[in-house]
Amino acid sequence: MSDAVEIRKLHKRYGRRVAVHELDLTVRPGTVFGLIGPNGAGKTTTLRTLVDVIRPSSGDVRVLGAEPRRGGAALRRRIGYVPGELHLEGRASGHRTLSFYAQVSGTRDTAGTLRTAHDLADRLGVDLGRPVRTLSKGNKQKVGLIQAFMHRPELLILDEPTSGLDPLVQREFLAMVREARDAGQTVLLSSHVLSEIQQTADEVAVLANGRVVADGDVSSLRLGSIRRVRAELAADAATARPALDSLPGLTGLELRDADGILQLSGTVEGAIDPFVKALARFDVRDLSVEEPDLEESVLRLYGRAASLAPSPSRRSRRTRREERG
Ligand code: ATP
Repeated sequence: MSDAVEIRKLHKRYGRRVAVHELDLTVRPGTVFGLIGPNGAGKTTTLRTLVDVIRPSSGDVRVLGAEPRRGGAALRRRIGYVPGELHLEGRASGHRTLSFYAQVSGTRDTAGTLRTAHDLADRLGVDLGRPVRTLSKGNKQKVGLIQAFMHRPELLILDEPTSGLDPLVQREFLAMVREARDAGQTVLLSSHVLSEIQQTADEVAVLANGRVVADGDVSSLRLGSIRRVRAELAADAATARPALDSLPGLTGLELRDADGILQLSGTVEGAIDPFVKALARFDVRDLSVEEPDLEESVLRLYGRAASLAPSPSRRSRRTRREERG
């Protein structure tokens, strides 16, 4: 069986700006593939070439064995697509809008497709009786997801699919992705939220500045091994400082004394257990461990590759970080 998506040396230039640089990527059938990267990394550009919304400057793209520009309606029918920027401004209700999509997509089983649409609307919690233009951003996004999933396409291409969704709906969406994979469908989704990729993707490519800077299975990427920590300790700054300076894995330590409570923040790379055990020597009043900004993780782990041909803003941020040591 051919790969669901094959991208070879994809290059896309907008004037002098290179959005995607000689990108290679393969998505195997029946898998969930996550494309992650900071803003402007080239995720949307890559996905748009797969659905023929934009054409490559050079390189080869194959989707379900066909070239997007030649695949026409027959290829589009086999794909479910959620664009990064969804525009649903019509007067028609969600139901009419989805019926329209079902008809134009030429699905063989319109009644079955619409039954699935209504089941998905119940799961996601959106009222299909309302005119779509009156829906909130999150509810429009739900309609966008339903139109992509309802005809059970072989390939789902989802650009930032959870944008605007609340956490409970995000969880339902992730369940839908896993069910699609279990039913043999292939899912390619982009995100700049690491946790949602971690929960669903079999394979991941990290994009930065239009290049793949790392790929493989989620655990091998180590992106989840960087965490931002904050703690409040009942301790005196001067006495505690030497021990805090040597907390295992901690970098970028910042301390603030707030009325006898020492507020600590920093980044822990690697296993969290030694850090937590070492911190337990103190009187810990509060502790939070958070996923850092994806850009920070990408630059920290793949800094050299990610900063090839950096944009001016990224170069200055990186230089500042290097200056800080
Ligand atoms: P985000 O997470 O912010 O959506 P992204 O990873 O999807 O980002 P793209 O939207 O693919 O990134 O953009 C990649 C680069 O190409 C960016 O530098 C962007 O400014 C540029 N770009 C995208 N579309 C155009 C366009 N139509 N004209 C000019 N430059 C563009």
